[in-house]
Amino acid sequence: MSETDVDLEARLAEQDSFEPPESFVEQANVSDPSIYDEFENNWPECWEAAADLLDWNSDYDQVLDDSNPPFYEWFVDGELNASENCLDRHLDERSDEAAIEWVGEPVDEANRTYTYGELHREVNEFAAALRDMGVEEDDVVTMYMPMIPELPVAMLACARIGAPHSVVFAGFSADALATRMNAADSEYLVTCDGYYRRGDPLDHLSKANEGLDGVDHGTDTVVVDRLPDDDSFGHERSDTQHSYADLVDDHEGETIEPVDRDAEDMLFLMYTSGTTGQPKGVKHTTGGYLSWAAWTSQSVLDIKPDDTYFCAADIGWITGHSYIVYGPLALGTTTMMYEGTPDYPDRDRLWEIIEEYEANQLYTAPTAIRAFMKWGEEYPDSHDLSSLRLLGTVGEPINPRAWKWYYQHIGDEECPVIDTWWQTETGGMMLTTLPGVGKMKPGSAGPPLPGLSADVVDMSGSPVGAGEAGYLVVNKPWPGMLRTLYKNDERFINEYWREYSDVDSDDSSDWVYFPEDGAKIDEDGYITVLGRVDDVLNVSGHRLGTMEIESAIVGVEGVAEAAVVGGDHDIKGEAVYTYVITEDGYEENEELREAIIEGVEDAIGPIARPEAVIFTPELPKTRSGKIMRRLLENIANEDELGDTSTLRNPDVVSDIQQQAQND
Ligand code: ATP
Ligand code: MG
Repeated sequence: MSETDVDLEARLAEQDSFEPPESFVEQANVSDPSIYDEFENNWPECWEAAADLLDWNSDYDQVLDDSNPPFYEWFVDGELNASENCLDRHLDERSDEAAIEWVGEPVDEANRTYTYGELHREVNEFAAALRDMGVEEDDVVTMYMPMIPELPVAMLACARIGAPHSVVFAGFSADALATRMNAADSEYLVTCDGYYRRGDPLDHLSKANEGLDGVDHGTDTVVVDRLPDDDSFGHERSDTQHSYADLVDDHEGETIEPVDRDAEDMLFLMYTSGTTGQPKGVKHTTGGYLSWAAWTSQSVLDIKPDDTYFCAADIGWITGHSYIVYGPLALGTTTMMYEGTPDYPDRDRLWEIIEEYEANQLYTAPTAIRAFMKWGEEYPDSHDLSSLRLLGTVGEPINPRAWKWYYQHIGDEECPVIDTWWQTETGGMMLTTLPGVGKMKPGSAGPPLPGLSADVVDMSGSPVGAGEAGYLVVNKPWPGMLRTLYKNDERFINEYWREYSDVDSDDSSDWVYFPEDGAKIDEDGYITVLGRVDDVLNVSGHRLGTMEIESAIVGVEGVAEAAVVGGDHDIKGEAVYTYVITEDGYEENEELREAIIEGVEDAIGPIARPEAVIFTPELPKTRSGKIMRRLLENIANEDELGDTSTLRNPDVVSDIQQQAQND
C-alpha cells in the first residue's frame, strides 16, 4: 500500500458522510431533490412515473385501489405483457445491441452475447415449445437452473404466454425443489444436465430427478444441455423429459403473440430464501412489479440504454429477477450474467470482467465486498475499473469499513455507493439514497425512496426517537409490493400486517406493513437496518442488534467477517457469541481476540462484551450469501442442527463445531 493510500484510508475512516460525486450528478437520471416533495404531494398518482416507463396495451383506469386492504391493486384494469416490454418494444432501435452478455465459467470459452433480436427470437421459439407441451396461461412453470442464459429465456417465454414462473436456486436441495413444486402445483420444470463450478462439471439433473421423485403429481421436464457430451453424466431421459435444444429447433423462427395480462395478473412466484424457516410463496404481479423494477433501475441504478450493467447476484434470488432480468431489460440496456464464482480462476475475476466489458455499474452483496477486502486491493488495483460509474450493495447491512473500501478501491472515489434495503416481498428497492441526490452515510441504507413512507417504531407502533432501536415499518402501499402469499391470504396477513395494523379496518391508513426487520433512524431520517427481528439479542434485558455488533467487530483490523448469535446464559439470559474470520495475513491469536472484545465494548458498551470469540475459516451461508445465524446459534448452544440443505457450503458446519469445542 502506498503512502497516499494510507493517508487516504485514514481520512476516509474519519469521514461519516459523502456527497455524491459531481461528475455523477451531472449525468444522473435523477438529480433534482424536489422529487421527494413532488411525489409526496402527488401520491399515489406519482407512481404514474413508474407505469410510464412501460408500454401498456390497455390503459389503466386507476393508479391504486386501496378499498380492500391489504389486498391492494395497482394500475387497475391496465393490460400489458412483460416479455413484450423487455423485448419487442426495443427491436426497432436496439435489435443489434446486446441484451445479455453472458460470461460462462472459463472452462470452454463459452461466453455468449444475445442481442435484443436474438433474445427475442429464442424467447419466441421457447414460448412456442412450452405451448406445445401444454403449458397454458396461469400454469406455474418451475425453473431449477444455474446462471445460464436459458434461464432468463425461459422466464421471458413464460411471461410471454402468461404462465407465471417459479425459480428455485440451483444450489438448493432436491427436497427444496419438491417442496416448492408441490406448494405451487407446478407441473412443468425447466432444468439442465449440469454446470461448472470452479472448473469442474457438476451433476445437476440427478438432483433434479431426485426432486421430481418427491413431486406428488405428473410433470414434464425440459433439460438444457449445458455440458458438452464428454463432461455429461449420461443421465437416462424418460418420455416426459425433453431436450431444450430439440424443442427450440422444432420451433425455429416461430413467433408467439404476447398475451395481454391484467396488471394484477401474477408474473411470478418466488419462494423466499428461507433464512428463517418455512419458505413463503411470494406473489408478484405484472404491472406493479415490472414498473417498480423498471423505475428503481432507472432512478437508483441510474441505468441508461447504452450502459453495460453488471449485477453479480444469482437469478435464483429476487435481486437477479428484478435487477438482472426485468428492470434492466425493460429499460433496453445490456445486462451481464456471470456463471462463475468471484475467485476462479483467480481472485481478480470480477475486475477482469468489468475491465473487459467496460461495465458501468456493479451491484453486489456486502459479503462479497468483505471477501474482496480480505483478499486485498492488489486484485482490483491490477485492472482498469474506470468504466464504473455507480456501485451498489444489497442483502445485509454493509459495515462502514467495507463501504469505504468499496468506495476507495473499486470506485476510486468517483462512484456513489448505494446501500439498498429491500426484500423478496417488496419486489424492488425501498430504502436507499438516490445516487444523484442524497449524501451517503456508510452503514446506513438511507431514507425511503420518494413516494414511500417508512418509519421506525416501538412495540406499540409509536415512532422511536433518533438513534433508538425499534422496528421498521412501511406505512403506505407501493406498486412493487407482494400481493399475497401463494394460496395463503391468512398467512400473508399474519406474517406482514397483523403486528401493526387494525386488521378489522377497511381504511387503508390503518394498515402498516411489517418487514420483520429491526432498525434505527437518525435526525436526517436515514434508516440503518439492524437485521431481522429474530436476530435481536436480549442480554440482561438489553436489546442488542446482531448486525451492530458484527459491524463493530469487522471494524477491528485483521477481521474480515463476523457473525454474532445469542447463546444461552444462566445469568444474562443470552450471551454474545461471535464467530470470526480473519483477514489474510493475520493470526488467530489472543491479541486479536482481545482487540475484538475491546472493539465491541468501545462501539456498543460493556453490555455487549462477547462471551466467546470463535475463529473459523468460513461461515455457514445461504445461496444468497446470508449468514445462517440459526445454525451458529445451535452450535453455540450445542443443539440439534436441523435442516442444512439450503446452505451454500454445508461442509463448514462440522469444522465450526470442532472449533467451538476447542475454544
Ligand atoms: P426469509 O424471509 O425466508 O427468511 P430472507 O429474508 O433472507 O429469507 P430476502 O428477501 O432475500 O430473504 O432478504 C431480505 C432481508 O435481507 C431483509 O429483510 C433484511 O433483513 C436483509 N437486507 C437486505 N438488504 C439489506 C440492506 N441493505 N441492509 C440491511 N439488511 C438488508
Ligand atoms: Mg425475509
